[in-house]
Amino acid sequence: MLPPSSDRRTADHADDVIRGLSDVAGLRVVPDPRLADLTTLRIGGRPRALLECETAHAVTAAVGALDAAGVPVLVLGGGSNLVVAGGDLDMVVVAVRNREIGYREADAGGAGGIIVRAGAGLTWDDLVADTVGRGYGGLECLSGIPGSVGATPVQNVGAYGVEVAQVLHRVRWYDRAAGTDEWVEPAALGLAYRTSVLKNTGTAVVLEVEFRLDPAGRSEPIRYAELAGRLGVAPGERADPAVVRRTVLELRRGKGMVLDDDDADTWSAGSFFTNPVVPEERLPTVRSRVTERLGAEQAEQMPAFAAAGGVKLSAGWLIERAGFGKGHPSSSSPARLSTKHTLALTNRGSATADDVIALAREVRDGVFEAFGVELHPEPVWVGCSI
Ligand SMILES: Cc1cc2nc3c(=O)[nH]c(=O)nc-3n(C[C@H](O)[C@H](O)[C@H](O)COP(=O)(O)OP(=O)(O)OC[C@H]3O[C@@H](n4cnc5c(N)ncnc54)[C@H](O)[C@@H]3O)c2cc1C
Repeated sequence: MLPPSSDRRTADHADDVIRGLSDVAGLRVVPDPRLADLTTLRIGGRPRALLECETAHAVTAAVGALDAAGVPVLVLGGGSNLVVAGGDLDMVVVAVRNREIGYREADAGGAGGIIVRAGAGLTWDDLVADTVGRGYGGLECLSGIPGSVGATPVQNVGAYGVEVAQVLHRVRWYDRAAGTDEWVEPAALGLAYRTSVLKNTGTAVVLEVEFRLDPAGRSEPIRYAELAGRLGVAPGERADPAVVRRTVLELRRGKGMVLDDDDADTWSAGSFFTNPVVPEERLPTVRSRVTERLGAEQAEQMPAFAAAGGVKLSAGWLIERAGFGKGHPSSSSPARLSTKHTLALTNRGSATADDVIALAREVRDGVFEAFGVELHPEPVWVGCSI
């Protein structure tokens, strides 16, 4: 069946723009793309086209031309924080693949140290491994996080007590409204818990990122109790970055949080829900809902930490206590919670986007029913919503 004529016009229009980009150095049009092959949840349909861009210039040329023509664009890194609808998708995917890396000494006037500059398309963990391999501290706690360098400021990536905001020096971005390519300070990014001005807005494309490193072989202070315990250091102390990296990777593997083609527990988008922050005055109500359901001891043990805007609860704890155990709903379900970590929704190989969305809704609604706490998804939704 032929598409309706307005769709046909859009398709022809997108094809014209893509033809116009074919001479751009470092840009490759990939035939017959499927988002399911490009996302770690292994779901997602067919976009109009996939443009692989190996230079920052190719990225800005592609996004600039598509924006000017009004063609919807999905900027893609490693696809590890995406929930993408199935079927035909009215968008062109621009995959950011510039991977250069360089080091310099920081200006004497600043905080000192070493600055590493990396292309947005470099695999994040390759950058962490390179910095740690040179004996530089700073990124080690963020070892093993999938995805690209350019996506790390998008949701202020964090793990084991460190967030990108703590080590970020500058970002080079392409401002899509103004059509400008410029370096901006971290303050321009509005970085907060798993978010920034870039998340879910698409206002700019990150082209390069600079991070501040410690050349004296000291990690960031170890703030996460489980990691400090494994390392045998007091919380707040520093350690050898290489040892921290090794230990973080071990901890992450135990939770299915390092991508592994042989382990379906890692075929996910990582933590599916952010840890909910509730106003302080709501905490007693939540605790009494926990008491009603599980008893006073559990209510007392419920993890709750002071955070910006109130008290941060543990999404994983709430999910498990609401009745969604590891592996929920069953070993034969195509989409199910990881058998290692209740916060990860996984595709066991044959799940569709609808299967994943149905499971996400079940968990979100179940937690709300049990404790009156609303969970918010962490990944970016493309062509669908929870
Ligand atoms: C097993 C597993 C473990 C994980 N663990 C963690 C964790 O510990 N901590 C954590 O914070 N996250 C974690 N994540 C989530 C994910 O890895 C991060 O959010 C990562 O930064 C996403 O990078 P990406 O390149 O894959 O982004 P993508 O999934 O490709 O894109 C995500 C969003 O960022 C946008 N984007 C991508 N690149 C750019 C760019 N260059 N410029 C502008 N926008 C861009 C996309 O348009 C999209 O909106 C985990 C995911 C998995 C699968």
